[in-house]
Amino acid sequence: MQIEFLNTFLANAKKNDYKNDQMICYQLLGDVYENINLPDKALENFKRYLVLKEATLGADTARKIAMLKATHQLELSKREAEIFRSQNVELQHEIEERKRTETLLANLAIRDPLTNLFNKRQFSLLAIKEFERTIHHGYHLSVLFLDIDHFKQVNDLHGHLIGDKVLSSIAAIIQSTSRDTDIVGRFGGEEFAIILPETPGWRAFQVGERLRKAAEESTFGVTSVPLAITVSIGIAQLPKTSAQEPAITLEELLNQADQALYTAKRSGRNQTCLYQEK
Ligand code: GH3
Ligand code: MG
Ligand code: MG
Repeated sequence: MQIEFLNTFLANAKKNDYKNDQMICYQLLGDVYENINLPDKALENFKRYLVLKEATLGADTARKIAMLKATHQLELSKREAEIFRSQNVELQHEIEERKRTETLLANLAIRDPLTNLFNKRQFSLLAIKEFERTIHHGYHLSVLFLDIDHFKQVNDLHGHLIGDKVLSSIAAIIQSTSRDTDIVGRFGGEEFAIILPETPGWRAFQVGERLRKAAEESTFGVTSVPLAITVSIGIAQLPKTSAQEPAITLEELLNQADQALYTAKRSGRNQTCLYQEK
């Protein structure tokens, strides 16, 4: 009776693949057969019970190990991703830092540190290029020289530091008055030069006057009392030619602008003077 019940239960457990129920059935059947003194049958059921138990335990352990492996792998991947990300950020910072240093070095080589205008060497290089382009296309070109009047007195009266501030202010005035295409440089101590591409002399004269007035009207704001500072300006223009042959060299053009500046100084300063052929 017990055996019949257990076998029916076992068949049902097998049909549904209930491993635990099957194990219980085999164990109980083993007990029953042992009690009714059928050792062979008892042994057979115990063996089945043990086989099932081992299989179930084995599968369970394998599943647990697989789970542990997967978790471990996930942790590893996460850590690797984190390391990769922080290395990437570090690399990005390094690249940006290097770019900043390169820009700084490049600027140091071509710009005057006080005014941030092109230094004389860079100004001359760009002037040569612009001069060649002008000749090639048969454009106009003007050169403007600006020198601060009696600048020595500014230093003597207010000190070198104030003198430096005045120089930066004048540079800022020149920069704000110039076009993007103009080449602006600090030519010497308190002397500045501008190449005005595609600009005839009369136009450059207007620029010069605008600059001169802006300097004259500025109070500079570097001392408690307003500073009255004026500038003298000399301008020379390249005569327009169609034969791609310049009438004068760049050096001669710069020299003419310098002569015009000298004339402005001699005529009382605070003036703009356009070079005139004698
Ligand atoms: P002028 O009207 O004839 O041009 O007279 P000036 O006094 O401006 O000309 P001068 O050539 O006699 O003097 C120029 C002065 O500019 C002398 C020099 O100490 C000053 N200077 C040159 N470079 C700098 C600079 O970088 N900073 C300062 N503060 N002064 C400078
Ligand atoms: Mg001067
Ligand atoms: Mg000078």
